[in-house]
Amino acid sequence: MTACPSPIDSIPARLAAVRARILAATLDAGRPPDAVGLIAVSKHQGADAVRAAWQAGQRAFGESYVQEALDKQAGLCDLAIEWHFIGRIQTNKTRPIAAHFDWVHGLADLGHARRLSDQRPAERPPLKVCLQVNTSGEASKGGVVPAAVADLLAACLGLPGLQVMGLMTLPAPGADVRLQRESLRELRLLRDRLATPEHPLDCLSMGMSDDLEAAVLEGATLVRIGTAIFGARPYNNNAAH
Ligand SMILES: *Cc1c(COP(=O)(O)O)cnc(C)c1O
Repeated sequence: MTACPSPIDSIPARLAAVRARILAATLDAGRPPDAVGLIAVSKHQGADAVRAAWQAGQRAFGESYVQEALDKQAGLCDLAIEWHFIGRIQTNKTRPIAAHFDWVHGLADLGHARRLSDQRPAERPPLKVCLQVNTSGEASKGGVVPAAVADLLAACLGLPGLQVMGLMTLPAPGADVRLQRESLRELRLLRDRLATPEHPLDCLSMGMSDDLEAAVLEGATLVRIGTAIFGARPYNNNAAH
């Protein structure tokens, strides 16, 4: 009997396939080949999987659960990884997020923003943040409603521990492709309205394993891909959002 390839062994090929999908979509969209960055979403994957992706050239990783991420980071401290927090922010977890991540996607609350800014260690550069917008109108999704983004943005721009990079959204799960495209497009149009020369809001964090092509066509600059790189998450994922 031949042994099944272990998922770890398949990571370099899966990563290459995802990179090829991103590049093809980027060129289809008439955008420069390096217009879209890749965050490898390693939530519920082991440190060995992260290390395998690193060895295949991946540098940015996304995590959704603070304690899980800190445990993993401890085993990977020899690697200069760019860590992105992409989960739901809990008020009592802002301190470790501010201390142990380079980016936070999914900021949608001014109280959280103030805490992250205050708690960002002085020796580190400002925490890069994307403001999460609820473009699908679905109550279960985090994010501020589009009409409230301008006020949140204005307040965040005054916080010295944060650097606002742009906007982030999650598509409605199971919605038809046309509706998903609409919510991705809405994020871009909102960004275009809010951007100023001083604060261009260059980053559009949108696109996951199933909708990365649509997201790239609609202007994503960072896609967050888990399953397509690492395979199905090996343990309970019911808290994913
Ligand atoms: C889990 C997760 C992803 C990755 O989803 P896949 O479908 O596995 O690619 C992206 N973004 C967020 C916010 C997530 O929680």
